Amino acid sequence: MAMAEVSARHLLEIAGLDDRDLGWLLDRACALSAGAQPAVLDRTVVNLFFEPSTRTRVSFELAASRLGMRVINVELERSSSVKGESLEDTAATLAAMGAHALILRHPETGRCHRLAAELAVDLHLLNAGDGSGHHPSQALLDAATLVASGIRLEGARIAVIGDLLHSRVARSVMALFPRLGAAEIRVAGPAQLVPDSLPAGVSRVDTLDEVVQAADVIMMLRIQHERMDRHAWPDVASYHAQWGLQERHLDLAGSGCRVLHPGPINRGVEISNAVADGSRSLILEQVRMGVFARMAIFEWLFAADG
Ligand code: ASP
Repeated sequence: MAMAEVSARHLLEIAGLDDRDLGWLLDRACALSAGAQPAVLDRTVVNLFFEPSTRTRVSFELAASRLGMRVINVELERSSSVKGESLEDTAATLAAMGAHALILRHPETGRCHRLAAELAVDLHLLNAGDGSGHHPSQALLDAATLVASGIRLEGARIAVIGDLLHSRVARSVMALFPRLGAAEIRVAGPAQLVPDSLPAGVSRVDTLDEVVQAADVIMMLRIQHERMDRHAWPDVASYHAQWGLQERHLDLAGSGCRVLHPGPINRGVEISNAVADGSRSLILEQVRMGVFARMAIFEWLFAADG
């Protein structure tokens, strides 16, 4: 297919945002959550999720409807992808019907980038999670949640714990928080679930007690069973004993430390009930802020269209 001149803005990963965009997106998410008037956008967006999702899909849908946009949720089992249609052809088909943006979640790492590179139509792409690759809207909403809760990211000590190897959230957060001035990012998890190479400025420690020391923010991650062979699944009880965040760990952390989790949470595995439901938890606040962060993302996405 001949490549047409396409110029639509995409959100594929944090690295694709310059500092001005980042600052604007976070300020705007916080302003919207504080009651700022949202834009009204005469646009149509399509949710195309090849992996299960509750939060992200509904959050994008709510964000779009608060901006007056039309949202189409493609039901995958009834779509032409089951008849062998390529993602590129599906995207072109949706664009031909007047869709302006595609919100894509896909199990293959890099699939959203590949689609963006091959797209021959003016269709905005939002990466809602690609395999173990990136999940930029999650990292943005995490940062917006902290800012809106009064946590200063400048100088913050961040601990990220669990299955970092398969986590696109961790990858996006490790790309974002240093740019927002975090003083340090320490990570910890089972040896087989922490990648050997970590981004510059991210350090690895060996135990949960150590990683939470003096932390201002603790981010817990789910074990991504869907990206592992069954035989590699850790035993739940021993995982919880070694890597599950419990109240006693919060005593080791900074006095104002807050706990994040992108969800879905697995109670009694990576996090105890007491922590998930406790006063340090921002987990539901992340969900609330997610809608505002995604409203800001839509406003940003379409702003360059003129
Ligand atoms: N919801 C996040 C994601 O889609 C985190 C997770 O599933 O564990 O990556």
